[in-house]
Amino acid sequence: MPLTTAAPNMADILQRQRTFWMTGATRDLDFRLTQLKCLRQAIVNYQAEIVKAATQDLGRPEFEGYFEVGAINELDYVIKQAPKWVRPRKVSLPLSQLPGSAWIQPEPLGVVLIIGPWNYPFQLIMSPLMGAIAAGNCAILKPSELAPATSNVLARLVNDTFDPAYIAVVEGGVDTAQALLAEKFDHIFYTGGERVGRLVMQAAAAQLTPVTLELGGKSPCIIDSDIDVATTARRVVWGKFLNAGQTCIAPDYLLVQEDVKPALLEALQQRLEECYGPDPAQSPDLARIVNDTQFERLMGLLQGQIVVGGEYNRGDRFLAPTLIDNVKWDAPIMQEEIFGPILPILTYKHLEEAIAAINQHPKPLALYVFSRNASVHNQVLQQTSSGCVCINDVILQVAVWDMPFGGVGNSGIGAYHGKFSFDTFSNLKSVLRKPFWLDINWRYPPYEGKVKLFRKAIGLS
Ligand code: NAD
Repeated sequence: MPLTTAAPNMADILQRQRTFWMTGATRDLDFRLTQLKCLRQAIVNYQAEIVKAATQDLGRPEFEGYFEVGAINELDYVIKQAPKWVRPRKVSLPLSQLPGSAWIQPEPLGVVLIIGPWNYPFQLIMSPLMGAIAAGNCAILKPSELAPATSNVLARLVNDTFDPAYIAVVEGGVDTAQALLAEKFDHIFYTGGERVGRLVMQAAAAQLTPVTLELGGKSPCIIDSDIDVATTARRVVWGKFLNAGQTCIAPDYLLVQEDVKPALLEALQQRLEECYGPDPAQSPDLARIVNDTQFERLMGLLQGQIVVGGEYNRGDRFLAPTLIDNVKWDAPIMQEEIFGPILPILTYKHLEEAIAAINQHPKPLALYVFSRNASVHNQVLQQTSSGCVCINDVILQVAVWDMPFGGVGNSGIGAYHGKFSFDTFSNLKSVLRKPFWLDINWRYPPYEGKVKLFRKAIGLS
């Protein structure tokens, strides 16, 4: 029976998963690989529905709908690498610990909860899920109610593919999320905004459950004067306006070296027209704002010196790609994550100013820097802190599966992707094995006469 009814009994679903987990079936690598392959096949089977749902929920162009299906790219990597990740990881012992051997033995955590957001509503449930499966866990998935078409497809896909005693979807809104959070899980993986992230962490604290929080924030994009202007404009326009700016690692604002601003502004305007035509409302390549609440929030940010864009249509929640020039740090748009197709432009004279301004704000999820000059790259890398950095491009760092993806400070706790997901959903158990054949007396009472030797052993003279 599908577990997607309006008021599912959370404790019941959880109990069934715990019972299944206790059988030990998920500890078997072949079982995990089979499930991952089933998931891959299910995504392939459902691809048209997934893309269609992204269009229904977010007005996504077909091309951008395939970003959701793109989860299979990481899945293939996980299927290929998981046999290596499950192996015990040998650790060398210090001389004082010999004879013996030591290793790190990954083991599954148990039953985990994955809560997803609306902006990449399929992909951001699938990506942690594949890590949870590879690591040998059972999982309950709570997709965002604000992307209802995707939530529905995801629930059907999962119910068709897995026994709910292993992987289950619970659809619903805030009440459902809160009811789930009242239960005891072995890990909670949350992707979404900072406000709810705090609530998730509070609920997890009550149960002493570990959390991964994948949050957002304002990701700066520094643009030095030594750049290829046209290429910079192409990349920034793509990364900012795909999914109508509703991307957690989209460049939130530009910090432009003042000498290059006139040329960059012109290139950005030209690029916007090349991508979306003279009337972006007619473009088939622009997504829409997810709901009226988000739309009205963005309307409130639409003020200042709009140099291009600003047109909107409440009826279909369309907001044209918009550039706002001469923005000051105290403007309303600089007080919150924009998460929409509005790009404020601020300037700096010396790089130190830009770095100081960034450092006065919470640590961002992503930071971008465009420059031909390696000393600029190094200065930014050394003097700022962020979850990730991409130099001379945007967004693409998220799809390098060997790199951890996560925030720092207010932009998140923990990280995932590829092996980092596997580790996030594993207990990395330390094991030391000693033989019986040597048992030197130095550590046992009576201690008399042993202090000097012990001091020497720990490194004191
Ligand atoms: P959202 O409103 O869909 O919320 C996310 C999830 O939290 C949903 O499943 C929702 O049901 C649940 N939720 C909402 N209120 C809750 C409550 N009171 N208690 C418990 N659960 C609750 O998504 P959102 O927060 O608007 O998502 C946008 C934010 O997510 C942005 O800040 C963005 O930067 C961030 N984000 C981060 C990443 C990342 O990978 N770091 C990815 C995507 C989005």
